Amino acid sequence: MTDVLAELRALRAGDLPTHGGHTLAYVYDSGLAGLDELAASAHALASSANALDPTAFPSLLRLENDLVATAADLLGGGVGSVTSGGTESCLLAVLAARGDAPEPNMVLPSTAHAAFHKAAHLFGVRPVVVPVDPVTFRADPAAMAAAIDDSTVLVVASAPSYAHGVLDPVAEIAAAAAARGVRMHVDACIGGWVLPYFRRLGVPVPEFGFAVEGVTSVSVDLHKYAYCPKGVSVLLHRDADLRRGHYFASARWPGYTMLNTTLQSTRSGGPLAAAWAVVRQIGDEGYLRLAERTLAAVRRIREGVAAVDGLRVLGEPDSTLLALAADSEEFDLFTVADEMRERGWYVQPQFAHESSPLNLHLTVTAANHGTENEILTALAESVAAARAAGPVRVDPDVAAFIAALDPGTLTGEQFAGLLSAAGLGGSGALPARMAEVNALLAAAPPALRERLLLEFLGTLYRPGKSFT
Ligand SMILES: *Cc1c(COP(=O)(O)O)cnc(C)c1O
Repeated sequence: MTDVLAELRALRAGDLPTHGGHTLAYVYDSGLAGLDELAASAHALASSANALDPTAFPSLLRLENDLVATAADLLGGGVGSVTSGGTESCLLAVLAARGDAPEPNMVLPSTAHAAFHKAAHLFGVRPVVVPVDPVTFRADPAAMAAAIDDSTVLVVASAPSYAHGVLDPVAEIAAAAAARGVRMHVDACIGGWVLPYFRRLGVPVPEFGFAVEGVTSVSVDLHKYAYCPKGVSVLLHRDADLRRGHYFASARWPGYTMLNTTLQSTRSGGPLAAAWAVVRQIGDEGYLRLAERTLAAVRRIREGVAAVDGLRVLGEPDSTLLALAADSEEFDLFTVADEMRERGWYVQPQFAHESSPLNLHLTVTAANHGTENEILTALAESVAAARAAGPVRVDPDVAAFIAALDPGTLTGEQFAGLLSAAGLGGSGALPARMAEVNALLAAAPPALRERLLLEFLGTLYRPGKSFT
C-alpha cells in the first residue's frame, strides 16, 4: 500500500502546487492548517455511500440540506441542490428554465461563463449573446432587456464574471427579466461565498441574491471560496416549483425507478461530506476572517500592479479576481506568464475577446495574504524579462494562413500537422515555454482555436500518454 501512495505522491509532485498561493487559477487555498486532513477523513467516511437514494443514506440527505441551508443564508433564501461543480449548477439552471419551450433562447452577457455555452450546446437553447460595456466589462442592462423576446427562457448575469471579476448590474437585469416574466439566473459560482463577507467587512457590494426581486436562481461553488475539496457546488432556486425542471424520474425500465436531482445518478457521499466538514469547521466567523485576508491581498496586489511599469488592471474589479493587461506593445504577456512560471507562479492567460485585450488572470485567495510582495516582485521581474526578450512575433504569412483556415473542412491529419507545427504534437512533452504556442493560438479565430485545442485534448487522453 505504501508503495502505491509513494507512486501517487511522486506523480503529484509534477503538478502545480495547490497550496501556498503560487497557483493563481484553478485552486483555492484557505491557508488553514489541518483542513485538508479533516476533509480527507470526512471524505473517507462517506465516499462509499450513494446519494442516489437519500432514503437509504439519510446521512447524505442531512449533509446536503445543511449545506444548502448555509448557502441560502448567504444568498437570501431559496431551496437547492448540491451538484458536482459550477458547470453542473449552471447547466441545471438552464435545463430547469428551458422546460418544453419549442425554440428556447437565453440572453447572456458576452462575459458569461462558458458553462452557459455548454448548456446551449447540450440542451438546445440558443444563446443570445449581448456585448458588455467595452470599458467596465459589465453587462449592459438596456441591451439585455432589448434582447429578450417571446422565446427567451432565461437571462443570466454574473456576480462576478470570471474573466474580469466585475459584478453585473443584477438588479436592473432582474427587473427587465421580471417585466417580461422570464427567469433570471445569477452566476455567483465564484463570488457567492466571498462577496457577502466583503459586504460585512464594509465593502459596498450591491445585493445580487434573492434579495433582488426577479432573481430566480443563484449558483455558488463550494470548491471555490468555501475552500472545500473539488466536486461541490450549490444551485439555489427561489422556490421549489422553479427547481422541478431539472429533477428527473424514470420508471420506464425493469430496474429501480431512477430519481435524480442532478445530472449524476450514483453520487458519491465523499465530496458532500468533505464540504460539510469544512464548512462546519471554518464557520461563519472563520469565513469572515478568510474574506478579510483575501480582501487585503487583492487590494494590495491591485495597488502594487499599478506601480509595475507596463501592467494595468482591466476594469474596476469588485471581487477577488484580477485581469492584468499590458500597456505597451514592447513585450508579450504570454512571455510574462512563462517567466512567472519559471519563478514558481502560475498565472492564466486569457485571450483577447471583444474589447477585452489579451490579459493574465489572477484568482486571489486567503493564502495570498502575506505573499503579495513576492507576487508583485515576480510580476515586475517577469515584465522586465519579457521586455528584454521582446514580443513574440508570429510570421505574418503564418498568421494569415491560420486566420483563413476553416475548421469545418480540415481533416484529422491536417489538424495533426497543424498541432505539430504549433509545438503541440502528439508525442513527447509540452514545450517548457508556451508563449510561441499561445501566440499562434491567439492568431486563430475562436472556432479554429476551439477545434485545435480539442484535437490536442484528444492526443492527451490516450492509453500510455504521460508527461511524467
Ligand atoms: C468557476 C466558474 C464556473 C464553472 O465552475 P466549475 O466548478 O469549474 O465547473 C461558472 N461560473 C463562474 C462565474 C465561475 O467562476
